[in-house]
Amino acid sequence: MRLSYSNYRTYLNCPRLYYNQVNKVPSDVKDSEYHSLYGRLIESFFEKHVNCYSKRDELIPESQIREIMRREWDYMLDNAYVDWSEPWVKLGSNELFEQVIEDILKNLEAFDFWNQCTSEVSYKIDLKKSGDSLTGRMDFIRNTGSSIEILDGKGTTKMDKNVDIEQLYFYALLYLLRHGKLPNKVGFLYYRYQLIKYVDINLDIITKFKNKLAIVKRAISQDKVFTPKPMLSKHCKWCKWRFQCDAFSAKKEVYASRKKNKINEKTDGQVIDLSI
Ligand code: SF4
Repeated sequence: MRLSYSNYRTYLNCPRLYYNQVNKVPSDVKDSEYHSLYGRLIESFFEKHVNCYSKRDELIPESQIREIMRREWDYMLDNAYVDWSEPWVKLGSNELFEQVIEDILKNLEAFDFWNQCTSEVSYKIDLKKSGDSLTGRMDFIRNTGSSIEILDGKGTTKMDKNVDIEQLYFYALLYLLRHGKLPNKVGFLYYRYQLIKYVDINLDIITKFKNKLAIVKRAISQDKVFTPKPMLSKHCKWCKWRFQCDAFSAKKEVYASRKKNKINEKTDGQVIDLSI
């Protein structure tokens, strides 16, 4: 089994979702990629900047950044599915592009460490005992000469809401298994805020996480049922198998009937005429 952080997290959120994703079960819903566009576009710039331009000490002017990114954006839009009329779409294509350009320029100014970094670094650790492997791709590994930092770029607008520190524990574990020592720091780099938030790690924390990971890995390999875990939360909301998931439909019905009962309790069962 190849276990990435995203597989691990998906299985914890919903085993059926994990099963569907891993086995590429066909779905009736076409997945809108709107929410991932900002992150993909800004990361495509910083990958080039970190791995090429900054290594050559090249300062690229804004006009050239625009040119490079316009080509990247056009290619991305040609190959992504986005329904721009969906209610959650907040920025149009051009506004989103401009937002990314603005944030690229701000991040270039805010941080002067790009030439100490390597971007999109892939690790694959083969586990001898189980024959499984752990895989991960880190956005940035920064080597200052005296310390190593692993940074994960985030495009989120809600900083504290979408924080998942286990993702950084996973990267720290990969680093530990490959190099025999922990990185000195791990953190999230928030592109929209030009801010890095570091997360505490030590051997004890990472060992506990490794044990949890081993339990989940075993659970996945022994699971024969992949029971759905329906929740009226984002996992189901964005799940592209939601319309073919019986467990989710049943949960929605229970929720709707509870809501109706609550309204009846409040109104004492009377029918209120809401017409104006
Ligand atoms: S709709 Fe919810 S419960 Fe059903 S498979 Fe998707 S995430 Fe799991």
